[in-house]
Amino acid sequence: MIITDTHTHLYSEAFDEDREKMMQRALRGGISRFFVPAIDSTYTQAMLDLEAGYPDNVFLMMGLHPTHVKENYKDELSKVESWLSQRHFYAVGEIGIDLYWDKTTLDIQIEAFKRQIALAKQYKLPIVIHCRESFDEIFEVLESEKDERLFGIFHCFTGTLEQAQQAISYNMKLGVGGVVTFKNGKIDQFLKEIDLKHIVLETDSPYLAPVPYRGKRNESSYILQVLDKLAEIYNVDRAHIAKVTTENSKDVFGI
Ligand SMILES: [Zn+2]
Repeated sequence: MIITDTHTHLYSEAFDEDREKMMQRALRGGISRFFVPAIDSTYTQAMLDLEAGYPDNVFLMMGLHPTHVKENYKDELSKVESWLSQRHFYAVGEIGIDLYWDKTTLDIQIEAFKRQIALAKQYKLPIVIHCRESFDEIFEVLESEKDERLFGIFHCFTGTLEQAQQAISYNMKLGVGGVVTFKNGKIDQFLKEIDLKHIVLETDSPYLAPVPYRGKRNESSYILQVLDKLAEIYNVDRAHIAKVTTENSKDVFGI
């Protein structure tokens, strides 16, 4: 069984004490493909080190996270652009709009989002979207950007059935993680209405640990709880969920 974690911040300081052991737990559990989103340039070296340590398992993205779109965002975006011109990354991410932490940066968040979508199209890469309290704003951008070159993943999808269908209409897969195991997570109520071909698995480690680890540090090996929950929702065995979601991740990332 090959399980793919399409969104895991393995380079986070949260793993500095035991990263190697954490990776081994995941690999032993059958999780062998880790897609690693960028945040800003302060993490780039840690991401490259991780890739060097696990060249067969770790696949890097490049991008500027919306909560890190600050006064220096133009410099940060030039660094993103420069990296994309130098070597291959598997996606432009994570990018998008976050109105939970800071509403005052909305204008520059939209600008950074659009510029990075343009880069993704230029390099024929998927985008990985971070959306927090910003469905309307994200959909407005996607509506203006939609074409055959626009595709990717709506990471940590937490919307309604209608919002799920709208995301899919822009060639997005839905990234499903720990939230699906939460009692008040809501998406478990309608997910079976969505064809499994639109779903990929993720943890968003070290955040959003699934039940029974909710509130603790998350790690990629906990994706098994998400796998079990989806097997229950779709009433199929976990091997089937692993197979289909890994195939879906290959369609998006090209590997
Ligand atoms: Zn993330």
